Amino acid sequence: MSTKDFAASTGRHKYWELVEKELKLLQDECGMLKKELHRPVDCAVCRADHSETVFTKEGFTFVRCRECGLVYVNPQCATEKLLESYEMNASLDYWVDVLLSQGEQEYDISKFTRACEELEELTPGRRVLDVGCSIALFLKIAKQRGWDTVGLELNRKAVKHAVEAYGLDVRPQLLDQADFSPESFDVVTLWEVLEHVSDPRDVIEQCAQVLKPGGVLAILVPNRDALSARVMRSHCSCFGGRNHLWYFDIRTLSALLDQTGFEVVRAETHLHQVQEILTYLNYKNPYYDERGGDDLDLPDDLRRKFEDFIMDNMLGYKLLAYARKVS
Ligand SMILES: [Zn+2]
Repeated sequence: MSTKDFAASTGRHKYWELVEKELKLLQDECGMLKKELHRPVDCAVCRADHSETVFTKEGFTFVRCRECGLVYVNPQCATEKLLESYEMNASLDYWVDVLLSQGEQEYDISKFTRACEELEELTPGRRVLDVGCSIALFLKIAKQRGWDTVGLELNRKAVKHAVEAYGLDVRPQLLDQADFSPESFDVVTLWEVLEHVSDPRDVIEQCAQVLKPGGVLAILVPNRDALSARVMRSHCSCFGGRNHLWYFDIRTLSALLDQTGFEVVRAETHLHQVQEILTYLNYKNPYYDERGGDDLDLPDDLRRKFEDFIMDNMLGYKLLAYARKVS
């Protein structure tokens, strides 16, 4: 299925429209983040404050750390404002509908089933905490496979769905508000969460506290190294400064995990985005426009080699890492 068809079938178009309209964070005059909401930050990995601007997009400035290469938003939006937006707003409530659409469910069930299989290879333990679990589809699948599951999620509509429709233990809390015993989980998962948080190091340290020694932390984030991000830069859909604050690659993510008592034991990337890159190279919107008759294209055999090259070299759109707690 093309990205355009996927967006239409899941209702993502409407979500993006809603996000644009709400949360008046930008100055009317210049379209940049309002000064009173500025939260200047240092690099989340090496803590350096030497960075250079890469581009600006939708009111936010994206910079690259001169020391370690992490790409991040700076200044970021004030944490209180961000948290408030995660608890309840029209676009996030609508996002629950996107997640429940048939197209999204098919994709996510496949993704999370594979994740369960990989986790089951990495640890015999079966008690899992999913931090920022949204509607808790991952936990639903894990529970069906015999796992003991707990989730944390701020969005009230997502929590309601997880509790009422799936019958799961999902709590409307941040990890530092939850009263879990130290070293009580075999696995903690952060599916597309770490790029959203104000302090990634703090969140990983909190995960370490509730993980048993030898337990596994699973992290899925946008991949700074993605070929689609490198080619399309600000036009790549991974870059959204309001809520995607940090862009790790395998080196910066491994460094942060190493500093917080973890060792990466497996890593891979997902989604090659070859069609999006080709559409962009034809001066079109990579996510909305169709292929045309005289567009630059690749013969099938070359396209397959290109896709393989991307996946073999960790250049996919999403980065998935599994790390074991070593200390
Ligand atoms: Zn850095």
